Amino acid sequence: MKSVNGSDRASAGDLLHLVRSGRATTRGALQQVTGLSRATVGQRLDRLFRAGWLREGSGNPVESPLGGRPSVRLEFDDAHAVVLAADLETRHARTALLTLTGEVVAEHGWPLRVDEGPEKVLDEVGAGFGELLRASGRPADSVCGIGLAVPGPVDSGTGRVVQPPIMPGWDGYDIRGRLRRAFTEHAGAPTTASAPVPVCVDNDANLMAYGEQRAHYPDCSAFALVKVSTGIGAGVVVDGSVYRGIDGGAGDIGHIRVPGVPGSAAALCKCGSYGCLAAVASGRAVAARLAAAGVPAASGSDVRELLAAGHPEAVGLAREAGRQVGEVLATVVTLLNPGVLMIAGDLAGTPFLTGVRELLYQRALPRSTAHLEIVTSRLGERAGLLGAGALVVEQLYAPERVEARLAALGF
Ligand SMILES: [Zn+2]
Repeated sequence: MKSVNGSDRASAGDLLHLVRSGRATTRGALQQVTGLSRATVGQRLDRLFRAGWLREGSGNPVESPLGGRPSVRLEFDDAHAVVLAADLETRHARTALLTLTGEVVAEHGWPLRVDEGPEKVLDEVGAGFGELLRASGRPADSVCGIGLAVPGPVDSGTGRVVQPPIMPGWDGYDIRGRLRRAFTEHAGAPTTASAPVPVCVDNDANLMAYGEQRAHYPDCSAFALVKVSTGIGAGVVVDGSVYRGIDGGAGDIGHIRVPGVPGSAAALCKCGSYGCLAAVASGRAVAARLAAAGVPAASGSDVRELLAAGHPEAVGLAREAGRQVGEVLATVVTLLNPGVLMIAGDLAGTPFLTGVRELLYQRALPRSTAHLEIVTSRLGERAGLLGAGALVVEQLYAPERVEARLAALGF
């Protein structure tokens, strides 16, 4: 935060950021951290109070760093708006209405095939948003932003998916525009062209990683999550921010070629190549092998159910898939040296984790794994939704956006 640290240019957005991050939560602490005068801090806080973004807390006053009377603790007021989030899986969708601090107000999940194309899928998501708002009695104009998690690589600049192997018909599609329209149609949202609701689209593994890291590992500066469901993808959070690479392609580990896999039809990947990790070790791949052995299974979620029931063949195949993913993760861990490696998705469970550990500790250097925690998901099926909601809030209340938003609201 360049503009803080003693400069007189710390904006209302900077003050809000200091309060939200817990770095400075009283008038005195804000003066001390920013070097602003008492009067200037007061003026900037006043705008945030009038907008309803900040409030004086009801808890005990805190000791002032500048001495004198204890000061009232300032808090981010999360009652002034809500966020809508949606998480698309290959055969399932989830929507949620969230507070700005990530509490779930209402949520809904239903079967929806992402391969039916963006028109139908996004229209249903918009209808789902409308239902959540009606059920919770919130007006559409209380929604400050929408977050969407999709199972494919996303160009975060345009919010469009780029050559997604398991999302036919979505390549380059204007997801933001269509979702905004569906929201307007189904939720009765205002159609002010000058202030369309911001829509943030990102890859599901990225958003799951973001949600999990913030909720349970806020002090971990290098966090990696691998989602193993119908496909395989990874999300990386470095110093609190999602690392996407220059084209949004970072973490797309499902299409790394696994050495030694024959180029047979069984190893044909959705991307058109043979022997990709996703073609041999994903939920879909395990389901196909189970089906070939006469066990009814067609998807990652079928495998999840078989694993939950302790089905011996599913357990054996999940462990083998874990070893294959572990082999790739040895490289990932060597490159990133993360503090936490989280395994999430349909296959995440003891057999898969055992396989990952076997190969990872065998192949990666001890220095890369000495302080590594390998864990399973903590937020479960809500991870993508909560990550999407959190990313929307972080973007909307980032210091550089606050000024413009306050001005647009007339404060
Ligand atoms: Zn592939």
